[in-house]
Amino acid sequence: LAPDVPAVLKADPERIQQVLFNLMGNAIKFTTTGGITLRVSQTPLDKDRIEIRFAISDTGIGIDAQQQKRIFDRFTQVDASTTRTFGGTGLGLAICKELVHLMGGSIGVHSNPDRGSTFWFTICCEQGNATNIEDLGRTVRSDEPIELADIGPLRVLVAEDSPVNQLIAAETLENAGHYVEVVSNGVDAVKAVQTNSYDVVLMDIFMPEMDGLEATRQIRELPGEVSKIPIIALTADAMTGEREKYLAAGMDDYVSKPFEQNQLFGAIRHVVSHNTKST
Ligand code: ADP
Repeated sequence: LAPDVPAVLKADPERIQQVLFNLMGNAIKFTTTGGITLRVSQTPLDKDRIEIRFAISDTGIGIDAQQQKRIFDRFTQVDASTTRTFGGTGLGLAICKELVHLMGGSIGVHSNPDRGSTFWFTICCEQGNATNIEDLGRTVRSDEPIELADIGPLRVLVAEDSPVNQLIAAETLENAGHYVEVVSNGVDAVKAVQTNSYDVVLMDIFMPEMDGLEATRQIRELPGEVSKIPIIALTADAMTGEREKYLAAGMDDYVSKPFEQNQLFGAIRHVVSHNTKST
């Protein structure tokens, strides 16, 4: 963090988080040795506004010049084997581009194959002041944390192909005293619910092999009680309301990524208590 970046900014934390989460997730996904660095710097634009620049550098597989031109288009992956090896949808960077444009900024990449990539984006924002922080503090504090202790410990299956999301979900739940098992695709999720018993499934929508919607449909068709297991969609659909589609596939609720602990726990509490009542 450059020393001249102001401590308080007026910007959209959720959109920034979403873009950082995507770019950091990709950096981790495509880097096996070396490291990943996030740098934040600023440039004054005029009296009231400044530009903040975020740059995420990795030492991973890199991207050739030809591909760099197309990488922010929807459904683009460098080659078809990417999906098999790393999972993903080819949507992440296209969503990042839209979010960054909504924040009045731009996004780009410098990369050398086999040496690594630097993805950068800018946003345009205003400097905040102390009064705003106090207001913010009050809002945050009034938001009572949702505890899951009174309905736990729960056995939770997390079906999610992104290693970053797997880690976040597992840590969040384990810290609250729950048991977590992780699978990386829909096929394994359908197998897991038949082998072990869980109180709730967190199901990513886009996964390799079999997506979360199809896995949910298959679980709902299984014989016996397991077909009623509560399923919460984990969705990266930042831009669109896809709620109806998830409910139609048999999911009970959904949480959009990157999720907040309160949202996740709220959804779990909702579906688990609902399930106890109905069975
Ligand atoms: P996906 O969900 O497939 O990762 P993205 O839009 O986030 O979709 O990325 C598109 C493609 O860009 C990836 O499949 C990968 O081929 C390439 N890519 C993205 N980030 C990196 C990176 N840090 N290093 C190497 N390749 C990357």
